[in-house]
Amino acid sequence: MLEIKNLVVQIEDKRILNGLNLTVNKGEVAAIMGPNGSGKSTLSYVIAGKEDYEVLDGEILLNGENLLEMEPDQRAAAGVFLAFQYPLEIPGVASMTFLKATLNAQRKARGEEELTTPDFIKRVNAAAQQLEIPKDMLKRALNVGFSGGEKKRMEILQMALLQPSFCILDETDSGLDIDALRIVSEGVNALRSPDRAFLVITHYQRLLNHIVPDTVHVMHSGRIVRSGGKELALELEANGYADYRDSEAA
Ligand code: ADP
Ligand code: MG
Ligand code: MG
Repeated sequence: MLEIKNLVVQIEDKRILNGLNLTVNKGEVAAIMGPNGSGKSTLSYVIAGKEDYEVLDGEILLNGENLLEMEPDQRAAAGVFLAFQYPLEIPGVASMTFLKATLNAQRKARGEEELTTPDFIKRVNAAAQQLEIPKDMLKRALNVGFSGGEKKRMEILQMALLQPSFCILDETDSGLDIDALRIVSEGVNALRSPDRAFLVITHYQRLLNHIVPDTVHVMHSGRIVRSGGKELALELEANGYADYRDSEAA
């Protein structure tokens, strides 16, 4: 589904991704682990199409389509979704209004009809209930004054509504207490499907006890330096990333 070949990216003359290769298959949950500053967030932004990053080499294909030639909204319409490490706050826009606008924009970009308000409300309420998001929270301005856990749940709600085919979660577990972690993980697990793939970026093994990955990749200095099964996450938790510093020098 996602194929990244020799991706080289810089920002303000600083090389951040250094020939990164990664393949994620349909139906797969791939975890990326790596120390702070290894380029994990940069990778997720470049896939989603955030500006500021200069792609010097390589390609990113989603189902054979070249993502690097698409605008961020086209990538979203193609099925890419990025849950941010720090979700945006939008004062003055009710969460419900934002969700409806986002969903209808995506439908429009795909040439589908807009949802009617009752249809939309039915879908939001069902998804919100699963994520234990109270209805009055949906009336409040998006993310303004929300706790870390509430913001993350709102991101997963967005994901549940948009039904993206390629979901990227960037440190979705940061700042979550154990209950919020369970709710968010259950929301993600409910979306696992043979037609959908996930890239789960995390520092810690903890999240991967809840969202059990099919593959684990270690990122270091802007490259994937090792790949394995879910047991690799446990090994990293035990040994840290020290082993990989040498591979950087090599
Ligand atoms: P991670 O998510 O793995 O912690 P990031 O992708 O956030 O890593 O950052 C990788 C490196 O790129 C870091 O050294 C960081 O300081 C640098 N970096 C990220 N964004 C910028 C930016 N906008 N300007 C300059 N350097 C940046
Ligand atoms: Mg970081
Ligand atoms: Mg990061």
